[in-house]
Parts: sequence; structure tokens; C-alpha cells
Amino acid sequence: KNINDSFGHSFGDRLLKAIAERLDSVCYKDCLVSRFGGDEFIILLESVRSKEAAAEMAKRLLLMLEQPLELDGIDLHLTATVGIALYPEDGEDSDKLIRNADVAMYKSKKESSGNIHVYNIDDSNEAADFVTTERNIQRGIQGKEFIAFYQPKVDLLNGRILGMEALARWQHPEQGVIPPGSFIAVAEETGQIGALGAQILNQVLGDIYHWQEMGIAVPVAINVSARQFADHDFCRALVKSIHESGCALSLLEVEVTEQVFLGDIETAASRLRYLRTAGLTVALDDFGTGYSSFNYIKQLPIDTLKIDRSFIAHIDSDKTEFAIIKALASMCQDLRLNMVIEGVETAAQQEALVSLGCDKAQGYHFFRPMPAGDVELLLQKQQAALA
Ligand code: C2E
Ligand code: CA
Ligand code: CA
Repeated sequence: KNINDSFGHSFGDRLLKAIAERLDSVCYKDCLVSRFGGDEFIILLESVRSKEAAAEMAKRLLLMLEQPLELDGIDLHLTATVGIALYPEDGEDSDKLIRNADVAMYKSKKESSGNIHVYNIDDSNEAADFVTTERNIQRGIQGKEFIAFYQPKVDLLNGRILGMEALARWQHPEQGVIPPGSFIAVAEETGQIGALGAQILNQVLGDIYHWQEMGIAVPVAINVSARQFADHDFCRALVKSIHESGCALSLLEVEVTEQVFLGDIETAASRLRYLRTAGLTVALDDFGTGYSSFNYIKQLPIDTLKIDRSFIAHIDSDKTEFAIIKALASMCQDLRLNMVIEGVETAAQQEALVSLGCDKAQGYHFFRPMPAGDVELLLQKQQAALA
């Protein structure tokens, strides 16, 4: 449907037909090529008796699909992934065979090593875990179990709270508070991150508003994953939600990682510009962990660079880390970027960072992420001390 919308009526349908014809042309006479739904096809190879032979056939199919295809004067480059399941060992009926071929296909999508995966029994356990987590997350979203914890960002010199980062937690009815490591990745893959993120944003806006009413204007950063950011409507919906909440737009910061720019850097940049024009600020998170191209810093409208904690783990003793942070601090100063150091755990690290002119940090040495109620008490205390 999306393809039809973008390229004109029936373009997608004709494309599917062209693909089906290509698949059919490679297959033996006794093969059955059928479309399963969406962009998924199933091919039944009746005479094939081994996984090796099936994989050989899959290779030929992929080669054929990768040939350039022209439709309505548009050159298309197709890619595909294949999952293979064999009768009877991988399933004695069609349901089970199709399900396991599907599991194998998802596995091959996840693997970077190739586009073909042959089903094996371990895949099934992995897929079952995934499906269980997905189902539990769904229940959690319905039960409004996803909440925000807050970790303060502090002034390195005096420990004063400058702002916070909202971090997702799952308040599970039986298992207690679950950190994001065990659910964010699944939620991203399934697309549930949209609803989950909305639930957290909702709480964050309520909290900011409540603090605003108490006379405390505290900036809060939210984490936005590449999947959320890729949704063309996300930024507009975010600005609208903040508007409707009555919170000052300038109190929200969006933290994105460079994953957001791996696709189309121009689109990503224009979305960030839109957010900044609306009054929000933008931070580039986990700087130093991926490609960390300086091109991003040059091309992207960002306010803050968050330096990953791996760069300061041994800053009090490691000359290389010291030199890198020194250079980054000087660059941020010249470019008028805020620099926030993540994961400060010791007084020695703090001291080394201060000696390099770093002024903002986050980390267990100052505060761990905590529930809204706890952070509110801290804010009140700080406000009373400053008054
Ligand atoms: P992140 O954005 O890099 O968040 C910082 C993580 O470092 C947090 O883990 C925080 O608890 C942890 N941390 C802070 N100070 C220290 C320290 O001194 N030492 C150590 N060892 N760790 C420290 P957390 O809360 O488990 O979050 C993990 C990741 O999950 C986040 O990494 C972020 O990528 C993702 N995440 C969290 N909340 C959300 C959310 O609402 N939406 C999305 N899309 N992703 C989220
Ligand atoms: Ca973050
Ligand atoms: Ca980070």
C-alpha cells in the first residue's frame, strides 16, 4: 500500500507480480511458488530432500532477485532473506513447517553473515523467548506498567542538579522493577517502542508540569530510538503532546544516537531542526561507541554531546583517555556544544574531569536513576538551599 501511495496506483501490485515471476522462473516444475502476505513468499520444493539442496536453490533465487529490475522507468534494487525448514524433521504439518521457516527467516534477517538461514532447534527457543517477551510487553503496555525513573545531570564542580534523564523502567506486577536492557531491544524490533515511549513521555510531561507548578523548572531528556525517530510523524506528535501538556518546550531534550543517521542523514537533520525550531534541545547520545563520525557533529543540529562512559572508565590513570577527553572538551568549547560525561563512578574520575575543564556529568558517583518521588525531594531540597 505504501509503495502504491508513493509510486502511483498499482505499482506495488505489479512489483509483487514481477517478483513472483522471477521466483517462478528459477524453480523446478514441481515447485509451488505462492505469496503468503505482505512481501513474504513461500516456495514449496517437493523433490528437495536435503538442507544443502534447499540452500543451493535459495542462493539461485537470491541471485535472480538481485538482478536489476525496471518498472515504470524506475530502477529497483531488490534484496531478500530466506528461511528454510525441512519436512519432516522441522515440522510434520504445514503450520509447523511454515512457522519454523518463518523463525529461520527472522534469524537470517538478524544475522549479518548472509541472507539464508537454515532452521535449527535452538532458533525455536530463541524465538519462543522473543515471542514471550513481546506478549508480556503488550500486557505491560495495556496495564500501564512502563514508567520513568530519573537520573540527575550535575554540575561537576559543585554537584548541583542541572537537569535529568528519563530512563524507562518496567514496574512488573510479579518481578518488580525491570531495567530496560531486557525489554527495549525487543520493543524496538516489534515496533512496541512507539506505545511504550508514549507511555513514558506521558508520565514525564506530567512530572515536568507538576514541578513547574511547584516553581521548579527542570529540563528533562528523553531517549528516542532510531525506530521511533524513523516514523515521519514522531516529531510532530511529540511537539503536539508537549504543547498540550502545558510544559515549556525548552524543558525537553531529545537524546538520539547516531543510529538515527545511518539511513538518510538529511531527513534526520531536518527533523532535528524542526524540533529545535519548536524550542526543544537535542543531544547526541553514546558518543564514541559507534562510528562517531565527526561528520555528524558538523552536519547535525545538536546542542549537547554525551560522551559514553567507556571513554572515562580509567581517566584518572590512563593517558590516552585523558588526551581524548581533553581534545573533545576543547572541541565542544570551540563549537559551543554542551558536553556531558556519562557514567562517572568515582571521586578520582570527577577530579580528573574537572582538571580538563569538563563541567557536566551523570553517574552513580552522584546519583543513580530513581523514582519520580525521590527526585522531587532532591529538587525541593536544592531549591530550599538556593533560596
Ligand atoms: P543510555 O541512554 O546511555 O542511559 C544511560 C545508562 O547508563 C542508564 O542505564 C543508566 O542507569 C546507566 N548509568 C548511569 N550512570 C552510570 C554509572 O555511573 N555507571 C554505570 N555502569 N552505568 C550508569 P539504563 O537505565 O539501564 O538504560 C540503558 C539504556 O536503555 C539507555 O542507555 C537507553 O539507550 C535505553 N533506554 C532507557 N530508557 C529508554 C527510553 O525511554 N526509550 C528508549 N528508546 N530507550 C531507553
Ligand atoms: Ca540516554
Ligand atoms: Ca548514553
